[in-house]
Amino acid sequence: MATTQSKDYYGLLGVKKTATAEEIRKAFRKMARKYHPDVNPNDKKAEEKFKEISEANDILSDEKKRKVYDQLGFYSDQIDPAQAEAYARQQSGRGGVPVDFGGFDFSGFQGGQPQSGAGNSSWGSFKDIFSGIFTGSEQGQRQQAGPRAGTDLEYQVPIDFWTAIRGGNARIEVHRQEECPTCHGRAQSGAATTCTECNGSGQVTQMGGRMKFNIACPRCHGTGRVAHGCATCRGEGTVQRTEPIEFRIKAGTRDGQRIRLQGKGNAGTNGGVAGDLYVIVRTGTNAVFSRVGDDIHLNVPITVAEAALGAKVDVPTIDGRAQLRIPPGTQGGQKLRMRERGVENASAAGQRGDQIVTVEVVVPQLNDERSREIMRELAKLNNQDPRVGLFDKI
Ligand SMILES: [Zn+2]
Ligand SMILES: [Zn+2]
Repeated sequence: MATTQSKDYYGLLGVKKTATAEEIRKAFRKMARKYHPDVNPNDKKAEEKFKEISEANDILSDEKKRKVYDQLGFYSDQIDPAQAEAYARQQSGRGGVPVDFGGFDFSGFQGGQPQSGAGNSSWGSFKDIFSGIFTGSEQGQRQQAGPRAGTDLEYQVPIDFWTAIRGGNARIEVHRQEECPTCHGRAQSGAATTCTECNGSGQVTQMGGRMKFNIACPRCHGTGRVAHGCATCRGEGTVQRTEPIEFRIKAGTRDGQRIRLQGKGNAGTNGGVAGDLYVIVRTGTNAVFSRVGDDIHLNVPITVAEAALGAKVDVPTIDGRAQLRIPPGTQGGQKLRMRERGVENASAAGQRGDQIVTVEVVVPQLNDERSREIMRELAKLNNQDPRVGLFDKI
């Protein structure tokens, strides 16, 4: 099977590969004036040249056609720019994944005539492109033949306040792709059978105008065998299933924390590894405590006497009751820190956050004359003005 070189359209028009549309248009006009059949009557060479530059102009002046030509070195209206780009990537070895030319219509070959003026060169190029693709398939590297890793999954999981602090087990229902139990991820059922299109030879004969050549069979991609899709998974290799998954919540787990459960994502196919499951913890709230990182915050009401005289009061902590010393002269809104009464750190063993108490001073309701008398007396004895300086600051 002979192959011919594809044409250098840029060279024909005498422009660079980077030429603008305007440069191409000008170059063509100049050449056309020189080689037009009207100017060169009965000159076969000029006629041939005119055909060639017309063809070059036809391809290069069309943005889509030029793109295909740039990628492949020839143009066919049966290949779109995306396919051409994918093919070029495969050829350069950068893409890794073999190209699927499934969208390509082979029927266009049958009885087709080479494009006018294109000679046989584009047919030769076609052969090249297909042999390039199907060489891969003959070695068993075609798409879906190799192992494919499963994708990762991500779930947000609400965890109650106390489980996040103390640790525990959590359970979620995960909707994931599992390996198909029938074909075990192979996506095929039973053994491959002989391809009926090529009778197992892997090659079919195509006619291209006067030329006749063998190309890799489009049905079996040159392998001579056709695999049959598994009925259970419809050839996917995986089935959707909802599965309960239990996992450990470490003590001190914070809101928004990501837990990675290796291999619990979607199953791979053809022996590919499963993806991972990422659980994003959403911690619940509590009526008394609020959590900021490893610190616990809460408001504690105290009496005017406790605030003025100082006191030891019982306050709740996440471990139960604990005593908090209120220093004499404590003001409302003041924050008192209880060291290492917060949450255990999930990653640094032995480290704990603090508890931060915001003091609320509760003013008593004075319902009897004696109490009011004592309060007035107290005010007389302590005539500090809490608003001192307030007016000066305006
Ligand atoms: Zn299956
Ligand atoms: Zn075949």
